[in-house]
Amino acid sequence: MSSARRLLLFAGAAAAIALLLSATAPVAGAEDDGYSYIPGSPRGPQNWGSLKPEWATCSSGKMQSPIVEIMGTPYPHGMIIRLNANASVVNRGHDIMVRFDGDAGSLKINGTAYQLRQMHWHTPSEHTIDGRRYDMELHMVHLNAQNQAAVIGILYTIGTTPDEFLQKCYIIAISNQEGKEKMVVGGADPNVAKGKDTVYYRYMGSFTTPPCTERVIWTVVRKVPEEDDQFGYIPGTPRGPENWGSLKPEWATCSSGEMQSPINLGLLDLTLAPGLGDLNYTYRNANATVVNRGHDIMVRFDGGDDAAAAGGLVINGTAYRLRQVHWHAPSEHAVDGRRYDMELHMVHLNTQNQTAVVGVLYAIGAQDEFLHKIVNGGVDPNVAKEHDIVYYRYMGSLTTPPCTEGVIWTIVRKVHTVSLSQLALLKAAVVNGNEKNARPLQDVNNRNIGLFIPLPLINV
Ligand SMILES: [Zn+2]
Ligand SMILES: [Zn+2]
Repeated sequence: MSSARRLLLFAGAAAAIALLLSATAPVAGAEDDGYSYIPGSPRGPQNWGSLKPEWATCSSGKMQSPIVEIMGTPYPHGMIIRLNANASVVNRGHDIMVRFDGDAGSLKINGTAYQLRQMHWHTPSEHTIDGRRYDMELHMVHLNAQNQAAVIGILYTIGTTPDEFLQKCYIIAISNQEGKEKMVVGGADPNVAKGKDTVYYRYMGSFTTPPCTERVIWTVVRKVPEEDDQFGYIPGTPRGPENWGSLKPEWATCSSGEMQSPINLGLLDLTLAPGLGDLNYTYRNANATVVNRGHDIMVRFDGGDDAAAAGGLVINGTAYRLRQVHWHAPSEHAVDGRRYDMELHMVHLNTQNQTAVVGVLYAIGAQDEFLHKIVNGGVDPNVAKEHDIVYYRYMGSLTTPPCTEGVIWTIVRKVHTVSLSQLALLKAAVVNGNEKNARPLQDVNNRNIGLFIPLPLINV
């Protein structure tokens, strides 16, 4: 990899995109490929170049892909993808490929036409931008009349709305995953993939699978979940926290509200509130979806018809169901002026859609079991459960736009621990600029902050 290679960036407004993770896993390591993606294994990426003489470029090449560093200057683009074409889906073992048999349109680069021949997917993404690896990368492979290749790579993050283009051709690919026979499908429409005003990077590289042939013209497109990315955390920027209230009329409360969150839980402002009672909750193992909202990583509990699937919290006799959890780093709430390294928010709703959030503060230390479980594929909200919980209670707001008030806040006083690598993982996953996603502290005004201490703790 050479950092001397120039990367060119065409910048415009990014297109909104997202997809479901469940439909993206390619089949890895099939025998007929002769290569694997498992690092350290005999046929792993570091050994591709010595597996076959004709794959030597994978080791010896000086213009290999993917590359890590991305920087940019404007580039005049000429992406013209125009036809609805017939396509065959081929399971190549290491991935699913959609091959276009007719004229599927073309890409024009410096006056030369490159015809779209096939597309396939990688998870996670192969290219990174500013060190960030995305959830998936689509490769659209084009050839010119001399069989020179130009590939468009499209980076995807996990989001809430499925990608229209992928839904069209991808579902067909999944249905063909069992066997390896090709299946002719109609109606895969590459035109849908043509985003207007896309941001893209351009550099000279190679195929990312053996034989790793070089002189491939790469165009890497970054698609960002636009709907979730319309506010930022960097102070002094147009979309920074001090401007949230003026970005949209429906976000006005962010500026005008008198009961906003987060706040400093000042020891002098506290009132002992024995009447609040023990934190009364029951959480269960439930199906969950991990969603990258750009500004944070959210785990949503999908109970289907059973809204109570993940359990919940009872406050003053009213049941609040756990709907999602997400994280902020550093912590949003402060205790006596101190902000911690991370804060977990467990968001609950009652049947009137009123919100109750439980916040848990973390300092760097031993790994957090709850996060550990999520990263390893299981979500068990019960792991977060403890006994004899001392907590703060106050009335506040959502800490992100629209900053809606009337939120019942419960902040657990015990500070938990999270490992450095767990925290780094959360920060790496969010969209650049959101590595610090804590809203500045808001005025307490005349609010009462209750402190509940369970009886067993008072009696010792
Ligand atoms: Zn590829
Ligand atoms: Zn939050």
